[in-house]
Formats: sequence, structure tokens, C-alpha cells
Amino acid sequence: MSSIEKLKKAELKQCQAYKVTDCGLTLEKVKALESNPAGTSKGDELNPDYKGKVIINGDKLVINLNYVLTGNIDRAKAGLKNITDIYAAAMVTINFSPNPAKFDLRIHGATLAEFAQGLKLCDCDAALLVGGWAPSPKHYKWGKALLLNSTTPKSEWPLVDAHEFGHKLGLKHRTDLGIMDYPPKKGIDRRKVTESDKKRIMDLYK
Ligand SMILES: [Zn+2]
Repeated sequence: MSSIEKLKKAELKQCQAYKVTDCGLTLEKVKALESNPAGTSKGDELNPDYKGKVIINGDKLVINLNYVLTGNIDRAKAGLKNITDIYAAAMVTINFSPNPAKFDLRIHGATLAEFAQGLKLCDCDAALLVGGWAPSPKHYKWGKALLLNSTTPKSEWPLVDAHEFGHKLGLKHRTDLGIMDYPPKKGIDRRKVTESDKKRIMDLYK
């Protein structure tokens, strides 16, 4: 068994030991979201914690954030690198500084149980389909956090991580092949941070 399969098995067992009593998301509902992003007509909303940390200079975009890594540290570390790389490819500079005492972003290698509880999933199998989750800044527990799944295929991590970070910046879903779109059901995931995504970030923080 591969290490990811082992992890999946152990985490499913741990997840199934909990019961989410007020679940709202069934496996069917999660499956129906595949390539079908929700809330695409919602306007973007700036993250008040990031005010003054997203810097616009002409057509340059620089994001300075203090971070902490928690949970599955290898997954969190991969997330930090993926976010930096994917945005750098779009000429968005992210300066991440480690600061566990005073962080703006907590990158958390989450367990399936944490996804099930946080998203109120009715079935732990549904958590296997969740690549990541970026709770609202107002969330009582995970406001500063970005949760990443360690049990999904590694090849999917970079774009998932960049997508979730887009949510932390305040971007909502779109169906424009940008980073806030969903991956296609089949074939190559061609999403990237587009000029339109950049403009949306700039419009929020200008
Ligand atoms: Zn999303």
C-alpha cells in the first residue's frame, strides 16, 4: 500500500469515529459540485486581516503575509511552496514570513475528520473529495486558516492550494478558467492565476 493509501485508511477510520450530528452535505451533494462551482455570482470580498498587506504598485502586486504551518506539516509545507510558485508564475510576488506568534495565514495540513466536522459532511467518504477549504475570516475556529487535504493525489495539490489561497484573499468562484474556477471532470486542469484574477485582487485592496 502506498503511503497516501495508508494515510487515507487511517484518517477514514479516525473520521468515522466521530459523528457529525447536524450534517448538511451528503456525498451526493459533494459529488454534484464536481466541475460545478457554487456561488459564481457572488461579489468578491476583501479579507480585513490582509488590509495593508496586499500592496499594489502600478501593475505590480505584492502580498506580504506572516504564516504558521500546523497539522500535517509536510502537506502544509507543500502548500506554502505551491501558493508561492503558482502566483509567482502570474507575476504576483508573495513574501511569506514565518511568525507563529503573529500570523495572518495558518496553513493547516488537515485530517479527513477536520473536513467532515468543519464542512458538516454526512459521510467521511465525501471528505476524500475535498481538496481544501478556505473558511471565511469570520469563522470562529478556522478564520485565519487554509485547510489542505493530504490524501488527495499530489498532482492536484498545486492548483487546489492556489485556489484556496484565492478564497483567503476574498475571491469567489468563477467559471472563467482562472484560478477560482473548478477543474474539469476529465482531462488536464488548465487553471492558472489570470490577469482577470489579478485585477480582482487589485480591485479589492486598492
Ligand atoms: Zn473554492
